[in-house]
Amino acid sequence: MSGNPGTTDSSSSGDSTAREIAAAESYSAHNYHPLPVVVATAEGAWMTDVEGRRYLDMLAGYSALNFGHANPRLIAAAKAQLDRVTLTSRAFHHDRFARFCAELAALCGMEMVLPMNTGAEAVETAVKTARKWGYRVKGVPDGRAKIVVAADNFHGRTTTIVSFSTDPEARADFGPYTPGFTIVPYGDLAAMEAAVDDETVAVLIEPIQGEAGVLVPPPGYLAGVRRLTAERGVLFMADEIQSGLGRTGRTFACEHEGVVPDVYILGKALGGGVVPVSAVVSSREILGVFRPGEHGSTFGGNPLACAVGLEVIAMLRTGEYQQRAAELGDHLHRELHLLTGTGQVTAVRGRGLWAGVDIDPALGTGRQVSEALLARRVLVKDTHGSTIRIAPPLTITKEDLDWSLTQLREVLNT
Ligand code: PLP
Repeated sequence: MSGNPGTTDSSSSGDSTAREIAAAESYSAHNYHPLPVVVATAEGAWMTDVEGRRYLDMLAGYSALNFGHANPRLIAAAKAQLDRVTLTSRAFHHDRFARFCAELAALCGMEMVLPMNTGAEAVETAVKTARKWGYRVKGVPDGRAKIVVAADNFHGRTTTIVSFSTDPEARADFGPYTPGFTIVPYGDLAAMEAAVDDETVAVLIEPIQGEAGVLVPPPGYLAGVRRLTAERGVLFMADEIQSGLGRTGRTFACEHEGVVPDVYILGKALGGGVVPVSAVVSSREILGVFRPGEHGSTFGGNPLACAVGLEVIAMLRTGEYQQRAAELGDHLHRELHLLTGTGQVTAVRGRGLWAGVDIDPALGTGRQVSEALLARRVLVKDTHGSTIRIAPPLTITKEDLDWSLTQLREVLNT
């Protein structure tokens, strides 16, 4: 399904929308501030709301939907697995598990996989992996392991992860915080070098900071982190949960600097937008530190997750999605950069089909721009004041992408 919705009127929400939103506000915790649209169905890059209006999804579940909504290959894989077996727990082996781990390891050029469900769980798993590796392999004194992270990071919402967040909204009122993390400015290699000491077990960074506004580090930064960590016997853990699996035009964002980290942390698109699937992928030396009972999850690596994940891996192996992201991404960034010339947009950042667009604050907040785009049937999401994030499914057509850019231009001109 493709093509713009025809009508782009900005009529306000109807009864069904208002009812659903009121009920959600009444019965669910207010830990999100969604745009006022209630989705009922979706296919490809398009979503349809409860009143039959169609919207172009330019957010793709923060990259969980890299392959679009209801991708036929992924839905077929899920349906086939639903008729076989969906859950065994890790108390037993199942016949999708080993293949999923082997193929994911191969996609990453690694040796071992520890599957989990959500991104935050995978980050927690990576933190535990690094600490245990630090004590058992590197020889750091017990309880002293330190992990260096970047300011303005976003790695999830658990109590340990928010302990090393610099975002007051994510942190305030959730202490006491987990110790053992040192925060340095993102993109500053000298600061990282100064922070790494004999008790440092790992550096944990996003190769491109998504939530912070799609911040691309200065050229040479990732390669510098690789060099530094290798020299100092410290693990380089790349959180590719949002940047990985095709989004930036490569399988991993680290590839843009020819870098292979010690640990990949994956999530979002690994579940094809169908089920939550995440994983830590690394070497035998590193992931081999775990013994039975030390870590786990009832649902991690379940048969349904592995079946969908296997199809995701097969799709990525074709290179088709990475190529689309690279080609359409070049087009997207060329078009967005034209807007910086007019002053309506103060900065554009990103790689592939992923952009952070800073709107001139005089024109409105990111939220206001997102709402104006919603009225024109384009779904994006704001972050940090005047920034909007653009990250459509990698399956989007050029025609639909262009149509969304026309809507953006018109919103900025009104
Ligand atoms: N790490 C990064 C880079 C992310 O972008 C996110 C989610 O946005 C997470 C971790 C957390 O993933 P989840 O929401 O699945 O826990």
